[in-house]
Amino acid sequence: MSVRVRFAPSPTGPLHMGGVRTALYNYLFARKHGGEFLLRIEDTDQTRYVPGAEDYIREALNWCGLVPDASPWNPGPDGPYRQSERKPMYKQYAEQLIAADKAYYAFDTPEELEAMRERLKAAGVAAPAYNAVTREHMRNSLTLSADDVKARLEAGEPYVVRLRVPRHHEVRFEDIIRGWVVVHSSNIDDKVLFKSDGMPTYHLANIVDDHLMRITHVIRGEEWLPSAPLHVLIYEAFGWERPAFAHLPLILKPDGNGKLSKRDGDRLGFPVFPLDWLDPTSGEKSSGYRERGYYPEAFTNMLALLGWNPGGDIELMSMADMVKYFDLARVHKGGAKFDPDKTKWFNQQYLRMRPDAELGAQLQAKLKGQGIETSVERATAAALLLKERATFVDDMLEGTYLFTSGSPLENNADAEAELRKRWKPEAGPVLEAYLIKLQALSAFTAPELERVFNEVLTASGMKVGQLMPLYRLYVAGRMQGPGMFDVSVLLGKDEVVARLKAGLQHCRSWA
Ligand code: GLU
Repeated sequence: MSVRVRFAPSPTGPLHMGGVRTALYNYLFARKHGGEFLLRIEDTDQTRYVPGAEDYIREALNWCGLVPDASPWNPGPDGPYRQSERKPMYKQYAEQLIAADKAYYAFDTPEELEAMRERLKAAGVAAPAYNAVTREHMRNSLTLSADDVKARLEAGEPYVVRLRVPRHHEVRFEDIIRGWVVVHSSNIDDKVLFKSDGMPTYHLANIVDDHLMRITHVIRGEEWLPSAPLHVLIYEAFGWERPAFAHLPLILKPDGNGKLSKRDGDRLGFPVFPLDWLDPTSGEKSSGYRERGYYPEAFTNMLALLGWNPGGDIELMSMADMVKYFDLARVHKGGAKFDPDKTKWFNQQYLRMRPDAELGAQLQAKLKGQGIETSVERATAAALLLKERATFVDDMLEGTYLFTSGSPLENNADAEAELRKRWKPEAGPVLEAYLIKLQALSAFTAPELERVFNEVLTASGMKVGQLMPLYRLYVAGRMQGPGMFDVSVLLGKDEVVARLKAGLQHCRSWA
């Protein structure tokens, strides 16, 4: 039996990162076992349909590299399998269950259903339900005569089809992640499978499609665990073999208190969606990892570890590595705490792994956006220095001083405040001595600059911590950044000399 799994989102809004993780685990499992990974759009509930959501889902999967396989069920990149397009087919399955006495027509009006609930509540029933006991007193094909039912159907009276849940029955299945799940059928109500508007409910469509698509493993979020016993009953009612189930743990808020929601992201400043989303009705915007500058590799690597780990201390994994190590048996039962700082750490690691020329080209383009023209070679040399402190490509823009000319102290209040704290007149002659030595250098290289800097420092008796910040502020205009000898080499002798002189003059002018 070859593995076949599906990711089955409902197009009710943007895909939450928990949904992306579900898709990712399905993908990893399929690839690991040489099976198929399919996409199924579960859009039978037209009232919850949100325009643009399906495109969003597909774009997010593409961005993450989780491209569904083409198969008779997924005819091509533009043709994911949509339940709404298979609408006429579900009815025959509802009828098949009725013919087998596993389901029945129910004609109860909303008022009658409400009256039933009131009656049961008054009798002390905590959670009134349409079930094996109550159905005996309702208007359905189990209580009405066959002729009556026929007449009602012919007259077009509204109806639903309900599952006839067996009365004394233990529903059992073994979840790959959670182990044995046992639920008594008295806790399951006679769920609606099919509505008179001709649409199946989620439960019926989900099971019929998993069966017809020959899905071998249903890997989905924990929120579906309560529905799983019902699904097992529906498979039993059809007499179909059921797929294996694996219910993935929740993704929790950073403090571990409950499920991660969009509100947590807004409150703590991180996205919970893969891509930006603009809600078509409310006009509300939500930000995505892609637009924040995350690499898809970093995003998927981080997501993979929310609920699973390959053992040992392996953290950085390519998609191929994850496929190699993935094992559903190692997925945890307990919820996984989301860690926004760790997510940034992953991005930083992936940024460092990018080829220098790529970072250089990106930096060049971003500088251009700020009106700074430079060659790709120079941008690449700068990227090599700047990437060490960068989490995102944008962070490298803190190094604009590498591309401008003239003193970075102009209109620079932060640098001014730092200099006021750090300037000592004794530093003047030492920096002048350095200036003379560096101008005399025939090789303007970082080791040479470091050598002459250390010479003047030792001769002066000052500490590196007294001198280096002045050097840094004069030349870079800021306290953080790459090593000053590398920065100086990139700027070139003339520019460094000019900035050091301007800096000295600036501080001396205070006296
Ligand atoms: N349509 C369901 C969802 O939106 C699918 C649940 C399942 O995978 O069976 O999550």
